[in-house]
Amino acid sequence: MNVIARYHEIALKGRNRPFFVEKLADNLRQALSDLPGVTVQPFSSRIGVHVPDETPWETVHERVGRVFGVANFSRAREVPADLEALKRAAATELRGASFASFRVTTRRADKTFPFNSGQIDREIGAAVQAATGVRVDLEEPELTLWVEVLRDRILYSFERLPGPGGFPVGSSGRVLALLSGGIDSPVAAWRMMKRGCRVVLAHFHAFPLQDRSTIDKTRELARILTRWQLRTRLLQIPFGPVQQAVVAACPAPLRVVLYRRFMMRIAEALARRRRARALVTGESLGQVASQTLDNMVVIGEATRATVLRPLVGMDKEEITAQARRIGTFEVSTRPDQDCCQLFVPRHPATAASREEVERAETALDVPALVAAALEGVAEERFEFPPLASSPP
Ligand code: ATP
Ligand code: MG
Repeated sequence: MNVIARYHEIALKGRNRPFFVEKLADNLRQALSDLPGVTVQPFSSRIGVHVPDETPWETVHERVGRVFGVANFSRAREVPADLEALKRAAATELRGASFASFRVTTRRADKTFPFNSGQIDREIGAAVQAATGVRVDLEEPELTLWVEVLRDRILYSFERLPGPGGFPVGSSGRVLALLSGGIDSPVAAWRMMKRGCRVVLAHFHAFPLQDRSTIDKTRELARILTRWQLRTRLLQIPFGPVQQAVVAACPAPLRVVLYRRFMMRIAEALARRRRARALVTGESLGQVASQTLDNMVVIGEATRATVLRPLVGMDKEEITAQARRIGTFEVSTRPDQDCCQLFVPRHPATAASREEVERAETALDVPALVAAALEGVAEERFEFPPLASSPP
């Protein structure tokens, strides 16, 4: 069986195109790497995937449907580069099928083929009409026969399935996303993957002051997100000591904002070490007390890194719907002990000012706390398809 994967050419600037196509082909290869006998070959603005016929279509469908950069794709059949062969195949395939109207849409990659695309449309259309008695409707056909003429063969298909769109992971640079066990941050990370970023995930946990629930959840989330980005690094950062220091020395209403500022500083240092160009958070304006515009500004001021907030203008319902489609919602909504629930004051500040936050931080040895957290970072790697040796 063949699969034709299409990308949106207009989105590509001339010189970047070979790089983009190569990344997309590499990612398709990786997504299908555990299936024997698969080959992936770019051809004239498309990527062709050849899969042995015994491979289950559902598996191929699911895998290709998660590779960013694929705008749409088709399951295609193949005949020799000969119009008569195509006529016979199309007529045989459609005889007995029930559809009220159809059209043929041809794309000719091989311009030396003796017929142009309009002629092929008409020839094949006439053959299908003769075999089935179904009328042609160029405007709103119930069925479209898509034909792709290549140098050595012709591919044809009857459907175009939507791909995830976006750009291939790895084509837009690396970022570091702050991943909690919640609903929002996995969606934020996913949206950056979709824009072509390689996303390193970083989670702050308060183990052993709290249980391991968010550590386990973020591992599970990393595994799900890896189905989309194929290779992932997850960093686990011990955050309990920072929280204890804040609680001991700073005003209670500022705790959450101070925790967040520490997360930003530590994340910035990690991003620099991993050559990630920007930080990503799941913040959405106004969603909770720590995400008022005032607090977002004061939190952002703790770092000089660029902070990307892909969800900033989204409603919770939109984010939740997306989390369901991505596949993270179920894990995200499991109960946990998030580090930010630790020592949370009854009345958190909704409009912390830079002055009061900076004054509070003079009571802390900020560089030492950051350095200690960096010392304790543990890294785990994920890959899709999962490696046989990878942890359960
Ligand atoms: P989420 O659903 O992503 O947890 P949220 O609505 O709970 O978000 P906050 O708790 O205010 O919002 O967190 C805002 C952002 O800060 C998160 O989206 C995430 O990027 C980051 N963040 C919060 N807690 C952690 C954590 N423990 N580890 C890593 N990042 C975190
Ligand atoms: Mg949260």
